[in-house]
Amino acid sequence: MKKIKKQTVGDLAVIACVIIICGLWFSALQSGGKSPIAIIYKDGKIAEEAALSEDRVIRLDGVVIQISDGKIRFADADCPDRLCVKSGWLYKNGDTAACVPSKTVITIKNNREKAPYAVTF
Ligand SMILES: [Zn+2]
Repeated sequence: MKKIKKQTVGDLAVIACVIIICGLWFSALQSGGKSPIAIIYKDGKIAEEAALSEDRVIRLDGVVIQISDGKIRFADADCPDRLCVKSGWLYKNGDTAACVPSKTVITIKNNREKAPYAVTF
């Protein structure tokens, strides 16, 4: 550890910056499609942010949303057209399905990005 004393504060700052940048870059790579999350909007507001890595069932006013095996879908809904159920599984970044009658939207995105837009009806 004695070598560190010979370096200037500037050198250490540069090294610290490099380490931080590498860390950010690495964590950005890690999130690149590997751990997507599903944003569930209800009435245009975020009702739930669910990691697709965790199997679960979410119930929201007449809509049943299922997460299984890194995918998400409308498993059941009491809307008349059931188009949301027919849209099937979502798993890629940007995949979106909506149940218009119940004002519920599911959108997939990579973990570290902000929600790209607000959904309004
Ligand atoms: Zn529906």
